[in-house]
Amino acid sequence: MGATIIDGKAFAAGVRARVAQGVAELVARGIRPGLAVVLVGEDPASQVYVRNKGVQTREAGMESLEYRLPASTTQAELLALIARLNADPAVHGILVQLPLPAPLSADEVINAIDPAKDVDGFHVLNAGRLATGQKAMVPCTPLGCLMLLRAQLGRLAGLNAVVVGRSNIVGKPMAQLLLADSCTVTVAHSRTRDLPAVCRGADVLVAAVGRPEMIAGDWIRPGATVIDVGINRIERDGRTRLVGDVDFAAAVQVAGAITPVPGGVGPMTIACLLANTLTAACRAHGLAEPEGLTV
Ligand code: NDP
Repeated sequence: MGATIIDGKAFAAGVRARVAQGVAELVARGIRPGLAVVLVGEDPASQVYVRNKGVQTREAGMESLEYRLPASTTQAELLALIARLNADPAVHGILVQLPLPAPLSADEVINAIDPAKDVDGFHVLNAGRLATGQKAMVPCTPLGCLMLLRAQLGRLAGLNAVVVGRSNIVGKPMAQLLLADSCTVTVAHSRTRDLPAVCRGADVLVAAVGRPEMIAGDWIRPGATVIDVGINRIERDGRTRLVGDVDFAAAVQVAGAITPVPGGVGPMTIACLLANTLTAACRAHGLAEPEGLTV
């Protein structure tokens, strides 16, 4: 018996289509949502992400503003740009591509973004709002995972959820979202004792670790729903491949449903960035938020 493969690529296309519809409705009212993406330095992976974000932003009918700054940019120069974007009414969302080159302080830059325009949801105020059940901008990757889980399982209330990983961008906000949906949540990390046993208690298992295929098939409770956030590049059979944090070939035999890598969580992240930008634009203009695109 094999698991249902959760098609994140198809789901993300649906989210993008709903975003495009919402954008068209705003444009008809004379409002074009705008997303500013700031890239500092030459990190090759970041350059690819920023290019993809620009393409998909424009495809959704939004304005894409890209700011490519040299690695020598100072903290003060970056903060001055953020201040300008905060004040610009044509900019509804601001994203600073991480990681920033040393010695720039990501925390200071993120916390300088107007929380209403913080479409990555990393500002401390948005993290606090999410943790206290107030309306927040929700980090894109965990928001995408939650959408996939709700679509797969319906109501999540009462399920045992285990999140492996406690980063501020994935693990912690994921745990908050699952808690808000009334799961019983365990957050595991590198110091967790007997991680396989902890994972075996999960009806919903979210892996956000960054270690290729670490989660073995026999760590998964039969029938569990597995969301694999990991994106790891490995060499196998002389080729570079992308694999997740879960041993997919083994897990697919045990799980009830599982996201593949690639084609699972990855495409949901940019789709949710676009959704957050649309949400931010609606909020900025006091308009009703699009349904099903935020929590
Ligand atoms: P971080 O490196 O910030 O966090 C990794 C977490 O995993 C930490 O909490 C760490 O624990 C924990 N961890 C590390 N080793 C182990 C171990 N052996 N056992 C248990 N826990 C462990 O990573 P991110 O959260 O940023 O990203 C996680 C993965 O998700 C990466 O592969 C990344 O590429 C991917 N990712 C994918 C995205 C997408 O769009 N699909 C978006 C963002 C990330 P501790 O805190 O104790 O060190």
